[in-house]
Amino acid sequence: NYEIEVPEKLSGELRSLGLAIKSLAGRLKYLEKIRRESAADFSHELRTPLHNLKSTVEALEDGILELNAENLESINEEVDRITNLTGQLTELVELEKKLTDVNIETVDGNEYFNELLNFYVKKAENEEINYNYEVFAGLDRISLDRQAVEIILNNLITNAFKYTEAGGRVDVRVNLIDDNLRLEVEDTGIGIPEEEKDLIFERFYRTDRSRSRETGGSGLGLAITREIVAALGGDIFLEDSDKGSNFVVMLPQ
Ligand code: ADP
Repeated sequence: NYEIEVPEKLSGELRSLGLAIKSLAGRLKYLEKIRRESAADFSHELRTPLHNLKSTVEALEDGILELNAENLESINEEVDRITNLTGQLTELVELEKKLTDVNIETVDGNEYFNELLNFYVKKAENEEINYNYEVFAGLDRISLDRQAVEIILNNLITNAFKYTEAGGRVDVRVNLIDDNLRLEVEDTGIGIPEEEKDLIFERFYRTDRSRSRETGGSGLGLAITREIVAALGGDIFLEDSDKGSNFVVMLPQ
């Protein structure tokens, strides 16, 4: 059992140590989970392209299909799908390696987030997105794991850009609310249908809306994000938004 609670009365360095242990425990649980689930998930995802390949090749052998450009192209596409999946598996293993290094630090949140979020200004300009961020006051001493927070924000902001048309808006807000670091990424993009709001956090799930946009994507980003957030003892959810999507992450302090 990896459940660890950091006692309320701890403060200062002891509290940081407690949070580091809690985070390490969360990660162990997370790593165990990806080990258990990855093999099953990936072999499930491989099944369709392998099956398609096999039936095409058999049909060619039996002379039911002829070897023309169109059939070769469909073989090529299935091979690409398999290559793509293999690449994702490698990425997941890399991520797993990174996440074994726990590093909870006390940082000046103002400085840290302003610098981190400023990084996306150029990217926003290139994609003609109206991107703004706001780091609220009171964040001068917060505990966080830089690497984990960077992966979380990168996944959410990259998605917000990807699923928002040129001319749209992306707003990021960082705030401290009741002992929780609150990260919010709101966009005016294509949005997520109510009935798919839980599903998008599942591995490989992509909404029909996003599939039809040919933006490319693996459907892994949000699953990884949710697992990292859980490993840190936090929570991720969608808030209502007039137009587009509004992702909120809460990380305990
Ligand atoms: P992908 O690689 O497909 O972007 P993710 O796991 O990051 O994978 O996201 C899963 C799915 O959730 C996406 O395919 C898309 O359908 C939906 N999604 C994620 N972020 C947004 C967003 N900001 N706006 C609209 N849809 C989104």
